[in-house]
Amino acid sequence: MIEATGITGALLIGSREVTEGPAFRAVDPARGAEIEPAFVEAGPADVAEAAALAAQAFPFYRATAPAARAAFLDGIATEIEALGDALIERAARETGLPAARLQGERARTCGQLRLFASWIRDGGADEPRLDSPLPERTPLPRADLRLRHIGIGPVAVFGASNFPLAFSVAGGDTASALAAGCPVIVKGHPAHPGTSELVGRAIRAAMAKAGLPEGVFSLLTGTSHELGGALVGDPRVAAVGFTGSRAGGLALCRIAAARPVPIPVYAEMSSINPVFLLPAALESRAEALAAGFVGSLTLGAGQFCTNPGLVIAIEGEGLARFLAGAGAAVEAAPAATMLTPGIAGAYGKGVAALAEAGATEIARGGAETGPNACRPALFVAEAASFLAEPALSHEVFGASSLVIRCRDAAEMVQVARAVEGQLTATLHLDVADHPLAAQLLPVLEEKAGRILANGWPTGVEVCHAMVHGGPFPATSDPRSTSVGTLAIRRFLRPVCYQDLPEALLPAAVKGGNPLRLPRLLDGKMIAATETEAEK
Ligand code: NAP
Repeated sequence: MIEATGITGALLIGSREVTEGPAFRAVDPARGAEIEPAFVEAGPADVAEAAALAAQAFPFYRATAPAARAAFLDGIATEIEALGDALIERAARETGLPAARLQGERARTCGQLRLFASWIRDGGADEPRLDSPLPERTPLPRADLRLRHIGIGPVAVFGASNFPLAFSVAGGDTASALAAGCPVIVKGHPAHPGTSELVGRAIRAAMAKAGLPEGVFSLLTGTSHELGGALVGDPRVAAVGFTGSRAGGLALCRIAAARPVPIPVYAEMSSINPVFLLPAALESRAEALAAGFVGSLTLGAGQFCTNPGLVIAIEGEGLARFLAGAGAAVEAAPAATMLTPGIAGAYGKGVAALAEAGATEIARGGAETGPNACRPALFVAEAASFLAEPALSHEVFGASSLVIRCRDAAEMVQVARAVEGQLTATLHLDVADHPLAAQLLPVLEEKAGRILANGWPTGVEVCHAMVHGGPFPATSDPRSTSVGTLAIRRFLRPVCYQDLPEALLPAAVKGGNPLRLPRLLDGKMIAATETEAEK
């Protein structure tokens, strides 16, 4: 069946459409009802076909000029925008997210595609380094050494349920892999297959206009773990980008590590994003902090990886005022539809587990309004209980948070030392808090990928200096980020050319810097506008 929107339920394998096979349907989480049309479940043969096409396309695609790949990325953004309201309407039905949020997410998606385009146009993918030969050096001469980066190979991307556009089919993982010169096979999230197909078709249209080989992009959909496992296990897949649960991410890491040729998995999994309310700040603005906190906590039904799931403060009058304000705001917060029945069920279990582990519920938001509603929840526990009970550190995906009451500053530092790896850590502080903040900072640097002062962790800027990563379990590789231009490094590999004849050298490392790239020459940065000769 072909809908007016162009959604057919087909798998997009290169330029082929697979329309026959076992099927599943998306679920409208606000109504708990299935949505038409049916989508084909991809199987092992589809994985093999997509991987073979990607491997075939890789040598050509990785050798394309950065300007050509940049034009392709810009083209994807244009095609996504051309989908218009049909994309927003379908995504809203499949996720329960409001149209305004999805419009913002579309802008972010197109913005990050264009950011990667401009980054590689300016030479961001190559990062060349040159060491001049030293033929007279004793006791041994030094060879002529030149390094550049190339794409790692076909990349498997797992679409995230909580970002149906910005971290799904044409999201940050896909944009950074395509920018790096890697073909991409997306395993679309089964919660939003129609949204995935629309965006997949937009990528295809941009590919056709750019004259790229069909294997540069394929979209597989399905609801079974076997599909994701087969994709990660395929010998032609060279790296994986994933956002989702800790269990899912770890399962894929295990599959990747057990292959005859192991590959890197960049999995973003679980983070409770501790927020430290330092005493002077708490004393001076407890009510404002409570309002800001609950705004961040309940945004998007709390379904953000940067959701503030843990608040740490020292007992006293300021904390009492904060708890009163935050409790009242949580009580007043309405229930909101969650992304999937599975995520709503996991939220209910997570909240119950916090209570079972000894946390005290001090506030609960609006009565449930629909089949998959999230009622915001606020808990409190003593620092001693937190330090003794690992279950109090588990991520509860949704609008639930736990406030930890410390006896003193030393106990606050102890709690900071005890938390697992995080995407973010936040300090609310005044000048009088600087000595305690200076004590916490080195601890938090070892725990988190991004440290904020006087802000809230939700809302991630897509830019050059962003780190959306962190030590396990925030991610499977603490050296990486999945947001911002540095994300391209995950899918690049350095190659060094020693004493190669000038005629055979790639342009990025040729003498005279013909591409006018910023290059490291004998340890010194040469600006893009300068050539080595000019230097
Ligand atoms: P998920 O269950 O981890 O699924 C994400 C993707 O990975 C899906 O495509 C899923 O496909 C696949 N997958 C999961 N386990 C797999 C396995 N063992 N082998 C192969 N493929 C596997 O995440 P979700 O569906 O988005 O949500 C479930 C929970 O994940 C949430 O309740 C929340 O706790 C967590 N989550 C966290 C974040 C975050 O940013 N921290 C974001 C989203 C979700 P199949 O289901 O078809 O196998």
